[in-house]
Amino acid sequence: MSNISTEKAPSGTKLWLLHLGYLEADQGFFLQGAGAATMSQQAPPNIRRKMVLISALIEHPTQGLILFETGPGEDYPEKWGPPVNDIFARTDYNPDHELEAAVRKTGHDIKDIKAIVMGHLHLDHAGGLEKFRGTNIPIYVHEKELKHAFYSVATKTDLGVYQPKDLVPELNWQAFHGPVFELAQGVLLQHSPGHTPGLSMLQLNLENSGTWLFTTDQYHVHENYENSTPQGWLARDHKAWVRSHQLVKAIARRTDASLVFGHDLETFFKYQHAPHFYN
Ligand SMILES: [Zn+2]
Repeated sequence: MSNISTEKAPSGTKLWLLHLGYLEADQGFFLQGAGAATMSQQAPPNIRRKMVLISALIEHPTQGLILFETGPGEDYPEKWGPPVNDIFARTDYNPDHELEAAVRKTGHDIKDIKAIVMGHLHLDHAGGLEKFRGTNIPIYVHEKELKHAFYSVATKTDLGVYQPKDLVPELNWQAFHGPVFELAQGVLLQHSPGHTPGLSMLQLNLENSGTWLFTTDQYHVHENYENSTPQGWLARDHKAWVRSHQLVKAIARRTDASLVFGHDLETFFKYQHAPHFYN
């Protein structure tokens, strides 16, 4: 597995986990078979699940501030509109969870960000790109994600999970190609298709806290990872997902990585979030 680099980021690199709010939806979206009727339980309850919205900020001595994903953006329930904002409902709103406020907790300003990495371009991750319109900040995303997202919007296939407003040519899109891309020393992007064709995870090797792996929506909830249970109605390419799952397990084995899943509440709150940082 030569793709698993354990080279550390330079001394002085910092990581903040950003909390960007909550949403709630039927857990059938996130877990295959959830709520399925059986002979002994013919009308099981439809369980709704509270999820967290996440982003991460890295301060890298040579590359400056790098933002991993941007959350859903401002006023997203209005922008998504019905039925999406009814299916994936915002709960417990707090202005502290806006992207700009979350970045401010780290002692930085959103204007100081030098690069953005998009694990994938679904609307709950790419909405915050609206804050970077009219700037020349590079937005790194896998070639296959960029192609699939623009195609999905243009042809209106799988339109519910992408927002045309997030996918505009005026942004400084920087595609990367192949299975692994080193953005900076100790900062790697691992292509892990399945949930989307170009989904990529962020691997960060820190000096003291060790390796971090931000899986974005390769896993929505911890059961996807722990029980090898694929996603429910949001699953796409199952075979690719299984291969990516093997890659995650290999990285975890090799590095003993701290895993941060796309939306898992319990896992997120096991760690500390901004203003606390890891180095
Ligand atoms: Zn998501």
